[in-house]
Amino acid sequence: MTGGLHLPPKESEGVVVVGAGLAGLFTALKLAPLPVTVISAARFGEGASSLWAQGGIAAALSEGDTPEAHAADTVRAGAGIVEEKIALLMAREARERIEDLLSYGVAFDKDLEGRLAFGREAAHGRNRILHVKGDMAGRAIMHALTAATRQTPSITVLEGLFARDLVLHDGSICGVELVPADTSRARGFILPTNAVVLATGGAGQIYGVTTNPREARGEGVAIAARAGAVIADAEFVQFHPTAIDIGRDPAPLATEALRGEGALLINARGERFMRAVHDDAELGPRDVVARAVYDEVMSGRGAFLDCRPLGTRLPEHFPTVAAACRAAGLDPVREPIPVAPAAHYHMGGILTDAAGRSTVDGLWACGEVASTGAHGANRLASNSLLEAVVFGARVAGDIASSWRPAILKAAKRAARPAPLGVKGGGSERAERTLRLTMAQEVGVIRDGASLQNALATLAALEGKNAGDRRLANMLVTAKLIVAAALQRQESRGAHFRRDYPLPDERFAKRSFLTLDQAEAIAREAREAVAPARRLRAALGRAALPA
Ligand SMILES: Cc1cc2nc3c(=O)[nH]c(=O)nc-3n(C[C@H](O)[C@H](O)[C@H](O)COP(=O)(O)OP(=O)(O)OC[C@H]3O[C@@H](n4cnc5c(N)ncnc54)[C@H](O)[C@@H]3O)c2cc1C
Repeated sequence: MTGGLHLPPKESEGVVVVGAGLAGLFTALKLAPLPVTVISAARFGEGASSLWAQGGIAAALSEGDTPEAHAADTVRAGAGIVEEKIALLMAREARERIEDLLSYGVAFDKDLEGRLAFGREAAHGRNRILHVKGDMAGRAIMHALTAATRQTPSITVLEGLFARDLVLHDGSICGVELVPADTSRARGFILPTNAVVLATGGAGQIYGVTTNPREARGEGVAIAARAGAVIADAEFVQFHPTAIDIGRDPAPLATEALRGEGALLINARGERFMRAVHDDAELGPRDVVARAVYDEVMSGRGAFLDCRPLGTRLPEHFPTVAAACRAAGLDPVREPIPVAPAAHYHMGGILTDAAGRSTVDGLWACGEVASTGAHGANRLASNSLLEAVVFGARVAGDIASSWRPAILKAAKRAARPAPLGVKGGGSERAERTLRLTMAQEVGVIRDGASLQNALATLAALEGKNAGDRRLANMLVTAKLIVAAALQRQESRGAHFRRDYPLPDERFAKRSFLTLDQAEAIAREAREAVAPARRLRAALGRAALPA
């Protein structure tokens, strides 16, 4: 463990895992005894979505349940574009991975007879969600894995460093460029390696309202895309319908399980608006509920989660939610909680195969930053923690079977550590504009015009902030999301277009984009709207009084 270190190590420590959330740590542990360096943007054990997972982890292990049934629910939730083989292998490998987590000391909740207790969540046909102390699963799993990591001599953790770029030699990975997270004028360095695993989590922070931690800036997708990797399903961003709307960034989450336990969605007039929208009312699919909440908020009627039916069960079973409300001066046992949709999970990401390999030689990805095809257009609740451990183990297995120290020596020669200036600070305004634009134009509901507006704003931000490469990474990921959303002229799962409100069979497939292709789409879109903009501007000038 190397706390607060900002100096380049003399040489690579072997495989470099970027990200210290569930996917990164699980991969590193599974790689032992191979030498691994884990890069943690925040202090070790902080700054990861994994810590905040309240619902739990899905695994078809209860009596009468089967991996096939779990896979079928996953495929259904994914709205027609899930890779069925991937969903099935993920469901099948859940047993072994849960056994791993138990062996690391995760104390999943048990029933009175001491057997694992399985909860239910929306769109799961069976009770198959493992919890820890109600809503503490993420924290408990991460505590167990950080402790295990600390006890594993083959793992070195470098804290407070952001990966900003990949270094390539003849099309293969030979290093990763790192910069300190906490200073604006610090120097970066290159860590040589021939095997990089990107496990940088989600991209929620490119949106104005998100449940994701500050570190979830979508940089992994951008870094990989700039190295030439194919990005899949970028347009599919899941919005959680019930982020607690108390002006906090990130927004605390009121987990879906509350609605499972009887909490109701009402507007300021006290009306239950979900009954008119979906047969399952509050327990309808996440994207449907998110759009209905969005409509109520945008219409000015407001949206609230009424947890009063739960009474004192709320603080007992959902201590995290109760604490977030109390901190904002709300008493959820007595008053409805204001809620709004928030960017929550990115189904899209770096295209990977069943072994977690990207399309770039020497680059693997797992966890939320990857797109394995398991989630399609909509992630089934509690499948992401499962995906992180299943593919973390697969990535480790694949690297362990092919990693050679001799190749590493060549990589070290190709990429000697080099100090790099970092331009930073001053970009806060640009970042705010980006986040606002993504929320307004590329959010729960999009259309062709809003997506074109977004592309124009992204281009302007790129032009004005060319020196800030961390912001540039956020802009690249945003561009990939917008370009893919513009291409998908239909509505499917979490991607809803006002101008194409129905699914279209012609688009019933995954999307794949390189950065060059996204740039071309963005250019074309800007050129298409430029004459109309010039005309509007000219008409505006003509209408002005002389
Ligand atoms: C509030 C909340 C509740 C959730 N509840 C559930 C749930 O109940 N069940 C479920 O299955 N899923 C849930 N999810 C989703 C799930 O938590 C995530 O998808 C999953 O934890 C992702 O794991 P990960 O390891 O890929 O990413 P993370 O856990 O986010 O870890 C990413 C790591 O990468 C680091 N990082 C980021 N960028 C860089 C960079 N450029 N350089 C270096 N390091 C970097 C981060 O600091 C972090 O250490 C929830 C998500 C949120 C936000």
